[in-house]
Amino acid sequence: MKDIFCPKCKENNIVKSGLAKGKQRYKCQNCNYYFSVMKEGKSIDPYYVIKALQLYLEGVTLREIERILGVSHVSVMNWIRKYNIKAPENFDYRPTYKVLTHSELVSFFNNKESLKASGCVITELGDKFMVIKWERYRRN
Ligand SMILES: [Zn+2]
Repeated sequence: MKDIFCPKCKENNIVKSGLAKGKQRYKCQNCNYYFSVMKEGKSIDPYYVIKALQLYLEGVTLREIERILGVSHVSVMNWIRKYNIKAPENFDYRPTYKVLTHSELVSFFNNKESLKASGCVITELGDKFMVIKWERYRRN
């Protein structure tokens, strides 16, 4: 199970352990934790893999990515490992995001202030759009 890591201890010492609710169940040999992950590869549209990795690079946490995209944070963690993605350390900003309809997106960008002083990424999300902006941490 070389592409699967334990969500608890992050070790790679995983064996298959039956099925749970139709999903493959795994057991970590290191800490005895049982867990299941979405099937790797074929069943997950690369669309979601790429979006998840984009969000990760923007600094969105794995739990937030799970909530936004509906893919498990364990899968996201596995993709980060699989594709060897390294997000640069960052202490200057945190990402904030909004999910907008097309007309909300248009009015958002009508306001020049919306574009000021922030990395800004727009990504399609179903029938809506997600805008990620950076917010500077205040320094004392
Ligand atoms: Zn473990």
